Amino acid sequence: MMAGVAQFLPWQHSIAGQWLQTGDRFAHAWLIHGLAGIGKRDFALAAAASLLCEQPHAGLACNACQACRWVAGGNHPDFRRIRPDSVAAEEGDLDEDNDSTAKKTPSRDIRVEQIRALSSWFGTATHRGGWRVAVIYPAQSMNVITANALLKVLEEPPPRTVFLLTTDAPDLLLPTIISRCRRLPLPVPALKDSTAWLREQGVAEPEAWLAAAGGAPLKALQQANSGDAPCPMWLQGFLGDLAAMKSSGGSHLIITASDAVEKIEARIWLDALQRAFVDLSLVAVAAAPRYFPDQLPFLERIAAGASAASLTDTVKWLAQQRAVAGHPLSPKLFIHSVLQHCARACDSPRI
Ligand SMILES: [Zn+2]
Repeated sequence: MMAGVAQFLPWQHSIAGQWLQTGDRFAHAWLIHGLAGIGKRDFALAAAASLLCEQPHAGLACNACQACRWVAGGNHPDFRRIRPDSVAAEEGDLDEDNDSTAKKTPSRDIRVEQIRALSSWFGTATHRGGWRVAVIYPAQSMNVITANALLKVLEEPPPRTVFLLTTDAPDLLLPTIISRCRRLPLPVPALKDSTAWLREQGVAEPEAWLAAAGGAPLKALQQANSGDAPCPMWLQGFLGDLAAMKSSGGSHLIITASDAVEKIEARIWLDALQRAFVDLSLVAVAAAPRYFPDQLPFLERIAAGASAASLTDTVKWLAQQRAVAGHPLSPKLFIHSVLQHCARACDSPRI
């Protein structure tokens, strides 16, 4: 059976319907932005299918016409996906046209050649005079050279062409790119929509996974499929150690956590640790934890012995560590120093 065209996620139907029915007044470039893990890529791909469909129902792709069949088969002549090779590889769709590129690590940037290759596409007529749609995701993967090449295109947009850019970090884009796009912010879906959807995907305890993912359902699904618990076991252990630190002296316990952390990708464990410190800063001012509510007993004990300012500083400090985490000189040393920094922050006396 054919997979069909990309579909909007349930919480996107009403915003998509309203937006697509603007018809011929449609802008030539849109910046679709919002929190990571809410389905911006799904939205952009479904929007592309809907724009290309020859007989859309209420603005949405029919999934039956010739154009929809081409989109589903990945060979509509008026449709281009522009994303880094690393993303294409994750999607199982890397074009291995020659051996030398196949052996290299796929690029994490959108390459300038990918934008330059569009010029011949712009020169050909569209199928039955319809739209031509390019989806660019994530837009912050364009380096400055690539972004400038796209900017030239957006300054003199080809006729009947729509660019859909998605990003969770608009501040990383060139301001000149942003000023050429109309913005379409996608909200974080309502809790009931997200939990219903996660349940349909077979996730037990959708509320806990959703909280751990900050309300982003696709991120929650990914974490539920790959993680051990909404609050990862190593982090539960570390929080337990921190809670017990005052009585036990602590440092040998931190080394236990660091062994478990070594097997995890740095950006993932740093992200979880940062969320735990957001929760600690909240609990320190008597607010409810946002990400790991089931760890409340540990969070309360840790926060009771620490200054709120020191916990908040640690959230910022961890964000800085995430920026350098891609290439630590010694992963073991890096983990150890981060965990020790966090332990010290929790040991700072309340003022
Ligand atoms: Zn159709």
